[in-house]
Amino acid sequence: MKTVEMTCIVCPIGCDLKVTLDDEGKFVSVKGNRCPKGEIYARDEVTDPKRVLTSSVKVIGGQMPLVSVKTDKTIPKRLIKDAMSIIKSKEVKAPISLGDVIVEDILNTGANVVATRSVGSPQNKDNSK
Ligand code: SF4
Repeated sequence: MKTVEMTCIVCPIGCDLKVTLDDEGKFVSVKGNRCPKGEIYARDEVTDPKRVLTSSVKVIGGQMPLVSVKTDKTIPKRLIKDAMSIIKSKEVKAPISLGDVIVEDILNTGANVVATRSVGSPQNKDNSK
């Protein structure tokens, strides 16, 4: 058995977790979490850690050359490099609205890449916030 210490990043409280693993590195138990989400986070972190991916995508014909994007749920960290390759190769035409899906179900994770702001066309300046 061994114990791993980590901080839960699911919410701003940031509980200090003590995770017990067996000799094969498998999750046994967690202490220090104030809610069940902390146990889910700790299990994921020692087996298949996940993160929300944030980036930006090229915009064609917009008031700005890029639009900021993020995944609408966490994806496995091991897929982030491949997800970034897809996002880097993507181009979208303006106008773009906050929440528009830019890449649907990226890498079959069930997560969509969505715009986190609007980008208007040059003739539509009010749509840039
Ligand atoms: S264990 Fe619960 S309360 Fe603590 S940081 Fe994680 S989500 Fe927040």
